[in-house]
Amino acid sequence: MKRVNLARLPTPVEYNKRLSAHYGVEIFIKRDDLTEFVGSGNKIRKLEYLMGQALAVKATTVFTCGGVQSNHARATAYVAKRLGLHPVLFLRKTVGDVLQGNRLLDEILGAEVIEVSNEEYEHVEEVYAREKERREARGERVYTIPEGGTNELGIMGYVRLIDELEGQMNLDEITQIYCAVGSVGTALGIALGLSLKSYNIQVVGINVTKRSKEFFFDRARAILAKLKSSGFNVPGVLERLTILDEFSGPDYAVPSHEDLRIIKEAARVGALVLDPVYTAKAFRGMVESAPRTSRILFIHTGGTFGLFPFAELFD
Ligand SMILES: *Cc1c(COP(=O)(O)O)cnc(C)c1O
Repeated sequence: MKRVNLARLPTPVEYNKRLSAHYGVEIFIKRDDLTEFVGSGNKIRKLEYLMGQALAVKATTVFTCGGVQSNHARATAYVAKRLGLHPVLFLRKTVGDVLQGNRLLDEILGAEVIEVSNEEYEHVEEVYAREKERREARGERVYTIPEGGTNELGIMGYVRLIDELEGQMNLDEITQIYCAVGSVGTALGIALGLSLKSYNIQVVGINVTKRSKEFFFDRARAILAKLKSSGFNVPGVLERLTILDEFSGPDYAVPSHEDLRIIKEAARVGALVLDPVYTAKAFRGMVESAPRTSRILFIHTGGTFGLFPFAELFD
């Protein structure tokens, strides 16, 4: 596995005294919103491994996909440009798209954006295949990065997080690690990293999508099976992982009133700025589900650029 350094690590771990007092649980925050600036958030940790592989196979072009305001697509566009590769983003069209936030950065970075309909997005591999053939016929070499950067390679970025945390804090004092689940790579990587070192910490993933937790457990099992078949067998990973479906709100990328309220509350009480697609849902799920005796590490996975297209909801 060839990893390239892309993120600015380690990101800080901060004990948030005011949020802890306000919500009645001990809250430590891993500031993965600070992994970079334009490349910020959780995806860049996965991209260190995925781009390492893209370079190893001498790719000239990288494909990835996501929603119009995808943090993953924007981070991929940025790191591809840093490494001299051409990013092609397959973005799912939605009504009322604006050239703002992540999508604006994609544009400025010169990423090639291919808009796909909801139906096409369900079979995006077929769209990829057609595009890949066309491009390779003219000499490009395409490397495809999955949705959210989640596969057996990408999750290694979050396996590696555990080493980083060990250098920063006493993990034995933590009872749960909370994070958002969008493609499950972050939560699975953390659970795998904890299992490798036999930490007795539960990873609680807050599902922010309308897919069910069974979908994510199936995906997690498939990734673990792939790792096992290449000789990397770690028992007890899924036992460490809990996924909660009940905080996903009206839809993926649609925040509830409570999500909007907690964005303001966390910012005003604890100077913690959350995003409306992932971290607000994860944070709300955390304060509403954690037992009062918890000592929690909340992974702030970023998403701040995704806040700006939602400006009018904060009127
Ligand atoms: C993608 C994303 C997540 C979800 O991470 P997965 O590894 O895809 O589950 C959480 N927060 C932010 C800000 C993201 O962009």
